[in-house]
Amino acid sequence: MSDTTDSSRRKFLKASAAVVAAIPLSTLVARKHAFAKAEAEEGHAHDYVHDAADAADHNAFQEGSRCENCAFWAGEEADGWGGCHHPDFHDVLVRAEGWCDVWVG
Ligand code: SF4
Repeated sequence: MSDTTDSSRRKFLKASAAVVAAIPLSTLVARKHAFAKAEAEEGHAHDYVHDAADAADHNAFQEGSRCENCAFWAGEEADGWGGCHHPDFHDVLVRAEGWCDVWVG
């Protein structure tokens, strides 16, 4: 291979690396869920709240129950937010500390 070809390849690779480095990581990681809306905001299914403590007066609330210990909890994805296997929450993230009235222990 000639020196000219190697030089062109090196320039191309450097330029490509610079372009990739300039793309914010957030644009590469597509968010697959929106966040659930708490009842106090616009209302979401099953009286969901971001903080289980806000549901303490709910007649279905059991002491200590929260999303992260619910049978529907799908695990944390980032920053205290995670997925939920319940069909009514399939397209949103819920808070690990959240709660809703279909909580199952
Ligand atoms: S079903 Fe369970 S994990 Fe899903 S929002 Fe309700 S309490 Fe949270």
